[in-house]
Amino acid sequence: MKQDGLNTLCVHSAHSPEAATGALAQPIYLTTTFERDADGGYPRGYRYSREGTPNRSALEACLAALERGAGAVAFASGLAANMAVLELLNAGDRLVAPLEAYYGTLRQFTEHAQRRGVAVACVDFRDLTALKAAVGDRTRLLWLETPTNPLLNVTDLKLATAIGHSAGALVVCDNTFATPVCQRPFDFGVDIVLHSGTKYLGGHSDVLSGVLVVRADTALLAQLQEWQRMSGSALGPFDCWLLRRSISTLALRVRSQCAGALKVAEFLAGHDAVEQVFYPGLPQHPGHAIAAAQMPGGFGAMLSVCIAGGREAALRTAGRTRLFTRATSLGAVESLIEHRASIEGPGSRTPQNLLRLSVGIEEPEDLIDDLAQALT
Ligand code: PLP
Repeated sequence: MKQDGLNTLCVHSAHSPEAATGALAQPIYLTTTFERDADGGYPRGYRYSREGTPNRSALEACLAALERGAGAVAFASGLAANMAVLELLNAGDRLVAPLEAYYGTLRQFTEHAQRRGVAVACVDFRDLTALKAAVGDRTRLLWLETPTNPLLNVTDLKLATAIGHSAGALVVCDNTFATPVCQRPFDFGVDIVLHSGTKYLGGHSDVLSGVLVVRADTALLAQLQEWQRMSGSALGPFDCWLLRRSISTLALRVRSQCAGALKVAEFLAGHDAVEQVFYPGLPQHPGHAIAAAQMPGGFGAMLSVCIAGGREAALRTAGRTRLFTRATSLGAVESLIEHRASIEGPGSRTPQNLLRLSVGIEEPEDLIDDLAQALT
């Protein structure tokens, strides 16, 4: 019997009543250490919690099932997951990355990877000719993020992955904005999917986490697991438990958030005080056709807007919202609004009049009313 519908996977992957007590919710195993047998062995599979815990095993099995990969590795934050991928690189290797991506990721490339002797080339991935020209012989890693944070640029996953693979590079895709509900990068040949679990997977603004899922290469998976153990950056049992619990409602939340985001984007696109809306679900978005083809589950629930009147007008608008909370981060049940340039700091390429919106699960009509009064 086929039992792999998304909501079914979200509820049932690596989730069954506990054998010893019948408890439906998995217990949180807060132990740091596990008993050895008299002969010194560990027949029950666990030794020390930095190396593995039952809560982490359950979470990782669930994440691998959701993305349909060979295995997953859970980290203490999205940036810790990024770092595990960067550890695959040696001095002299080349990393090709998008010009526009999450600013913390770009900082890791320019301030950490480069210092370790990795050559970093950042190009606009909407221009595949430029991407092809940037990918050279020594390219070991091609980093994709689509849609991007905060400009919602869309990269063609199939073509970009083929360009990376033709140079022998490993292709990683940050799927945080899209989630496995909207987009499955493995369908386009991507080798590693990355999530900041802090966002939609967690969904309630209460757990920092990061995830890598490997499509097929078990040797690569073993390398990433080894780094997880060696760096001591694995996700702790309570955070694993929180994340696994939240994933039960992932598809419900994200589908509702996508529907709300489209309504909010349509409203904003018709408002006089808004210069531009960045949302791949709008037909006028330059990446709409590609997004429609590679995001069959929805266009995501993140959007950005440029407000007429510049930085001050944008800050004034964010200052007036009542339902949208002014805060950084994204992907949770409550809607957030953020002036990105000021959080990204002096090197930011983000327009000064840009506000980024994370649409939650509130009624879209209430969110639109809130934005309407804030924009007046
Ligand atoms: N990737 C994207 C697209 C993000 O937006 C973020 C954080 O905002 C990260 C990665 C980093 O994740 P974390 O904050 O969990 O370290």
